[in-house]
Amino acid sequence: MDSEQKSALEAIHEKVRRCTLCPLHTGRTKAVPGAGPADAQIMFVGEAPGFHEDQQGIPFVGAAGNFLNELLEKVGIDRKTVYITNVIKCRPPGNRDPQVDEVAACKPYLDRQIEVIRPKIIVTLGRYSMARAYPDEKISYVHGQARRVNGLVYFPMYHPAAALHQPSLKPTVENDFLKLKQLLDGEIKPEDYQAPPEIEQLSLF
Ligand code: URA
Repeated sequence: MDSEQKSALEAIHEKVRRCTLCPLHTGRTKAVPGAGPADAQIMFVGEAPGFHEDQQGIPFVGAAGNFLNELLEKVGIDRKTVYITNVIKCRPPGNRDPQVDEVAACKPYLDRQIEVIRPKIIVTLGRYSMARAYPDEKISYVHGQARRVNGLVYFPMYHPAAALHQPSLKPTVENDFLKLKQLLDGEIKPEDYQAPPEIEQLSLF
């Protein structure tokens, strides 16, 4: 691995650990910058750390993380080869949804992580993460469809926690993971997705 890439990523992690840009820093046990190799081909972007992530400073180590591990294993992707982070790096109180100002404060960290890692595929988990590349669309329409945006390939998926709360979503999520593997292997290509006009506008912020 390129050692410059590795130290650039570690520098971002260190900045996140010391960050005081938004009020969430006052309530955190640990900030959760991200985890995985600096030359990862796949970058997963979740929403925000939960209880266990806040305790350990590592993303996706609770129930949603266990499910993510299961999904990766099923399609033969080793978690150790992927980079995982979140839209916001500190746990919101009571796991409430991230707020606009919190997402804005954290955005430069995510931008820089993408710039340094240059992943082949950015997998967005859930609507907050999806909003970065698919701002006005519904996850139920666009999940599992790869789109190239400004030279980056995004692949939106339901958040694993959504499938834990709503088991009927599980086969959809599993199928999207199979597609992710095909995308990684070059068996399917990203498209310029054109949202059909009947798609309801999803306004998050
Ligand atoms: N959910 C997320 O979105 N991120 C985590 O790190 C854990 C749970």
